Amino acid sequence: MNKGCLIVVSGPSGTGKGTVCAALLARYPQIAYSVSATTRPPRPGEKEGVNYYFLDKPVFEKMIADGELLEWAEVFGNYYGTPFRKIQDRLAAGQDILLEIDTQGAMSVKKRFPNGIFIFLLPPSLAELERRIRGRGQDDEESIRRRLAASAGEIAVAKEYRYVVVNEEVDRSVETIWSILTAEHCRVSRNAALIETIGQLP
Ligand code: 5GP
Repeated sequence: MNKGCLIVVSGPSGTGKGTVCAALLARYPQIAYSVSATTRPPRPGEKEGVNYYFLDKPVFEKMIADGELLEWAEVFGNYYGTPFRKIQDRLAAGQDILLEIDTQGAMSVKKRFPNGIFIFLLPPSLAELERRIRGRGQDDEESIRRRLAASAGEIAVAKEYRYVVVNEEVDRSVETIWSILTAEHCRVSRNAALIETIGQLP
């Protein structure tokens, strides 16, 4: 069986990553989502085990110490990390997995999974990004300023990714990401066994 693809999506806060990833998973339920662990408190409507595993700092630090995380990073004063256990089994079983993580985490994942599909979601502009962050009304002024300041730095890391998608409109971004995934599954490097099998004389 073709191995699953590890899809890593990053982008500055407010780009619409969450919305795009949720729409992608809703439309293509064959893609599994890697639920991250975090020490930040839940936002209204967020559910334990669905959006995140919400953990206390000591519990998170124990997971780091026990090597249970594929990667972890400190983002805006909180820990975020990707639990490792399920990922390898799912990839081996041919399941595609989506990680929505920050650029630090993505660069750590790239070292261990260089063949992952690294996609950077860009906002149409920084002015539009600010408008979206303010519009979502979830963050106080200080946190908005911190997120905007971080965005320019994050965008510079986009060059390390394999693809960039400008999120003008959610549906279009979803279809673009699906097209990328479809093309990635057709890579010769992912299909060596298939070529071998079909190429054998009966
Ligand atoms: P938020 O608090 O808005 O949900 O997420 C803040 C940032 O943390 C976002 O850029 C998000 O992609 C990132 N993030 C979420 N989960 C993880 C994770 O498991 N690892 C890393 N490195 N970043 C994550």
